[in-house]
Amino acid sequence: MHAAGSGTSSFSALVSPTVALLIALILAWAGVLAPLDQALQEMRFEASDRPASGETLFVEIDSKSLQDVGVWPWPRQVHANVLDRLMQLGVAEVVLDIDFSTASTPEGDLALEQALERAGGYVFLAAFQQSMADGTVVLNVPLERFATHSEPVLVNVDGDGTGLLRSVPAGLPAAGIRSVAAALVPQSPISRAAIAIDYGIDLRSIQRVSVSDLLYGDFNHTLFANKQVIVGASAIELRDFFRVPRFGVIPGPLVQLAATETLKAGRPISDLGLAPALAIALVAIALFASRKGRMSTAPLAWVVLGSMLLMEVAAWLVLRERHLTLDTAAFHVFAVLLVLISLLHERAMHWRQIFRQQARLAYLASHDAVTGAHSRQALLDELEGYLSSGGASVFLVQLGRLDSTIAALGHEVGDCVAVEVAQRLEKRLGSKPARIANDVFAWSLPKELRAEHQIALRRSVSACLDEPYAVNGHSVVLDTRFASSTMDAAGVGSELLRQAEVALSEARRENLKVVAYTSEQSDRINDRRMRDIALREALGREEFFLLYQPQIDLRSGDLMGVEALVRWQSGSLGLVSPADFIPLAEETGLIVNLGKWILVEACTRAARWNWDGRLSVNVSSIQFRRSDMVTTVRQALEQSGLPANRLDLELTESLLVDDDPAILSTLEELRQMGVSLALDDFGTGYSSLSYLSRLPIDKIKIDQSFVRPLPEPNNEAIVETIVLMARRLSMSIVAEGIETAEQRDYLAALGCQVGQGYLFGRPSTPKSLGLEAAETAAA
Ligand code: C2E
Ligand code: MG
Ligand code: MG
Repeated sequence: MHAAGSGTSSFSALVSPTVALLIALILAWAGVLAPLDQALQEMRFEASDRPASGETLFVEIDSKSLQDVGVWPWPRQVHANVLDRLMQLGVAEVVLDIDFSTASTPEGDLALEQALERAGGYVFLAAFQQSMADGTVVLNVPLERFATHSEPVLVNVDGDGTGLLRSVPAGLPAAGIRSVAAALVPQSPISRAAIAIDYGIDLRSIQRVSVSDLLYGDFNHTLFANKQVIVGASAIELRDFFRVPRFGVIPGPLVQLAATETLKAGRPISDLGLAPALAIALVAIALFASRKGRMSTAPLAWVVLGSMLLMEVAAWLVLRERHLTLDTAAFHVFAVLLVLISLLHERAMHWRQIFRQQARLAYLASHDAVTGAHSRQALLDELEGYLSSGGASVFLVQLGRLDSTIAALGHEVGDCVAVEVAQRLEKRLGSKPARIANDVFAWSLPKELRAEHQIALRRSVSACLDEPYAVNGHSVVLDTRFASSTMDAAGVGSELLRQAEVALSEARRENLKVVAYTSEQSDRINDRRMRDIALREALGREEFFLLYQPQIDLRSGDLMGVEALVRWQSGSLGLVSPADFIPLAEETGLIVNLGKWILVEACTRAARWNWDGRLSVNVSSIQFRRSDMVTTVRQALEQSGLPANRLDLELTESLLVDDDPAILSTLEELRQMGVSLALDDFGTGYSSLSYLSRLPIDKIKIDQSFVRPLPEPNNEAIVETIVLMARRLSMSIVAEGIETAEQRDYLAALGCQVGQGYLFGRPSTPKSLGLEAAETAAA
């Protein structure tokens, strides 16, 4: 795995430098880089500047000389004069770079012949090869009569005047003719066919004298002693010009002098061409590939810049020290391309990352990250699609017990279960479901799918989701609830989904397996919402008040106590039954503050009455779970001055099902304070009887649903059993809902001590119970 990874990375590290090198080589071979190479070469010549030997001299046939003589070609007497003059001045050797291959006037030819003879063999005359129109090459040599007193030397310059002239031919060995340079520097070994000129030699430092000055004018006579002189054309009119590096366009004789000076300095140039740069580039590629990890562009650019500078310094050094030239342009192009490719690569990576992130965001917008199911938005889009083509149904399934699974086994297990639910659903539905909440999945169907099919599908989904889930060695069982809603083409997707969610909350509240949406559900929810809002404001507006229902000693008929029952006189909703608003207050948590108010209000009232009966106050299990009941009760007793032993708290069985030790200790503490605990609505809860013996309960209130049907044999049996059991546990008994004297007598005969019900009185004001009057009397 690792080896393969590093293999591919070193491979990819090879790709970009190789591509860069190939491009550079192609450009070099195509000649595109030649101007750059020339410019660099000229810079190097410039930087390795050296003066000429001072042993050579250029006697130039310039424009002034042409004017002074007046005709061209010159009569050969002029050339003879020039030669004589030079010899008088004591020059060492003379090259006449002038065409003497054909005869002129007899007098002129004779004059020159005699001058050559006088010069005594120290003269070289121009020989040159010429390409004719028919393609043949002709060698022009001086006339025999001249050649007997001189040596022919090759003056060819193989330039075409457009490219740069770098070298001159070394001679024509076949014809036994040396070049000018070879003739003037005979001691220099000539190993090649051409003499490559070192333009580091400053051609401007070669002395030049015009023929005109030599013959008719003024000049420095000492200049000529022992010099090697070339006489030749420099006048523009004679068109003997060549383009060379560094010095631009120079006359042909000066090119011969440059070659001569090159040999004198012992510096004929060897051109190494592209090879050294190519070798260094290959080494760089090898280094590049062997590096671990990518180099980012900025440091790479510095390395590249450094190596380009080094390359130039090296090229300059080898020119100066070893008169070698090399082409470095391809290397520079390679190096720059390396940086460019790296930059491009970096940009590409950056864009790829951005592209990936965007793709991820797009995916998350339409998918659930955990299960890969569709998102709520994707479901809504699907619904809109179906709605626009005739109508849609949406089905929701809630995974009961997923939360408790997560609580018990952790999120990982919960996620695994969710993933499997998504898979099972997809398999069963034949399409991806949507996950619209942690524990709710959904799917949509076109409305034209017949109801039976939809139901059958829902059933089979139910069956497959209810199968146990094996995750990490755990077997998880979910319990599912379904809700659905359907709309026609006119509908809106979000509203359709909202309806299904209303139906699902209805299923939860009513503990139903399947609920289809009806408009009444929405009405109920709206109603509830309104009541919730009103309820929140009711406490501040003092819309609550208490009524009291008498509790009677069944044997004597005396008033034993009263049960405080809360009422809500709502400004907007009228008188609301506690059966409606207590569950709502429990759901919203408002019951905590409301319960405190009830306790304080009931205790305060009861303490003021001139009466020492018992006060029963109902307490919700939410109050136990979400507030400190011990403190609440203590404060109410202290604030009101009611003795603790006159207070009964009515609890419901729902408080006891959890068997929570914290609640148990709260109950114990309350009991220690002197408060009595009564179990309200006994027999309606689902919990087992076993807790009765373990809990600190003083009193049982038999629920009115067993009392009101009496006399009736089944309920008689239940009531008798409860009374018997309470007696055995030494608990006192209150029978609720006594509406007839017959019921009263039956219960009294059974041994039930206290009764409560419409027979004795409905919940009513203290005044109508005669308690308020007593209070007034006491006051
Ligand atoms: P509960 O504690 O079992 O209260 C007795 C309910 O039975 C009262 O209804 C009362 O009016 C009714 N009742 C009493 N005798 C008879 C009878 O002979 N026949 C019939 N048909 N009904 C009878 P209410 O006042 O509507 O209260 C309903 C429930 O609301 C209470 O049941 C109690 O659970 C809750 N509740 C009432 N006030 C409070 C309160 O202050 N705090 C808390 N937490 N719950 C309260
Ligand atoms: Mg009660
Ligand atoms: Mg009750």
